[in-house]
Amino acid sequence: MATIAYQQLCQRLSQEKYTWLVTGAAGFIGSHLVEQLLRLSQQVIGLDNFATGYQHNLQQVLNNLPPDRAQLFHFIEGDIRDLAVCHQATEGVDLVLHQAALGSVPRSIKDPLTTHAVNVDGFMNMLTAAQKNNVRRFVYASSSSVYGDSPILPKVEHHLGQLLSPYAVSKMTNELYGKVFTRCYNFVTFGLRYFNVFGARQSPVGPYAAVLPRWVQSLLSGEQAVIYGDGTTTRDFCFIDNVVQANLLAAMTDNSKAFGQVFNIAVGQQTSLNALFKQIATLLGVADAGPVYQAFRPGDIKDSLADITLAKELLGYVPTHDVNDGLGVAMAWYRKQK
Ligand code: NAD
Repeated sequence: MATIAYQQLCQRLSQEKYTWLVTGAAGFIGSHLVEQLLRLSQQVIGLDNFATGYQHNLQQVLNNLPPDRAQLFHFIEGDIRDLAVCHQATEGVDLVLHQAALGSVPRSIKDPLTTHAVNVDGFMNMLTAAQKNNVRRFVYASSSSVYGDSPILPKVEHHLGQLLSPYAVSKMTNELYGKVFTRCYNFVTFGLRYFNVFGARQSPVGPYAAVLPRWVQSLLSGEQAVIYGDGTTTRDFCFIDNVVQANLLAAMTDNSKAFGQVFNIAVGQQTSLNALFKQIATLLGVADAGPVYQAFRPGDIKDSLADITLAKELLGYVPTHDVNDGLGVAMAWYRKQK
């Protein structure tokens, strides 16, 4: 069930038409944002260079929609490291949902320069191009990694620790610039600190894939799934629909207290990797499958749990799916793909 604020927003958007730019549109989160906006009859531009995203994600979105909605989509293949591309993409755009980035803590430790170029320089290109082109709102993806080694639980937005990876530095830098652009130029930005997001279209491919699709892939192909650490590590797993809701609420809020702020976007539910693994294996019909344990990875944090009060109070964000609800939907999708 959608929350009141989100229901009202969706009703409003079915009457009002805007042009949205979703960067990272061919990726996991970006493709869901594109899909929901098109469902609401919005004009959507997608920008992606297919670094970690896929044409088939976009195709699946368009196949899920009636033709009159699908034709509201325009795609630009381009790289956010190219300022001219960012200028072109933001021309005539009302609202930006900036998702394009290189994810993964281990990737950033192995190759900090590329992570910096995409996540910091690319972010700055998007931010300045959007501001120059008079975009009304700029919502961007941050990450729970900015909490670093802080042991405080639940994580509250202003309590930060020492950063543990170049990825975390890149996301923290995004937040600093986002806030300063609101302060210096009155350019309205919102940072969304996603906690571990999951759902359909999250890629299991490659060494930097997120844990959940990696496990699903292993379990569905009869291989042993790997858990880094002893499985007591905890995370606040957040279903994709909650993240879509948060983006749209932020982009459309009239609450000036929210301008320039960063928000935790999660469920507020702590789940251990062992518990999650068991649930997934059961939902996939392989309840007896056991994981193999490997060494804890550097740069990762042991426990994570979000306090989502700020997003609730200022944006009207209320998660519609807890971990169980989300896993039910996601596993049904994975089984269908197989
Ligand atoms: P994803 O890899 O599926 O999507 C990222 C998209 O950005 C991909 O389609 C990729 O091709 C595109 N991209 C990368 N570099 C680009 C470039 N130079 N120019 C244009 N496009 C480029 O990852 P995702 O999980 O959908 O993540 C989306 C955002 O959310 C990222 O900013 C990520 O850091 C952030 N985030 C995700 C999670 C999560 O759990 N998935 C958690 C915290 C933060």
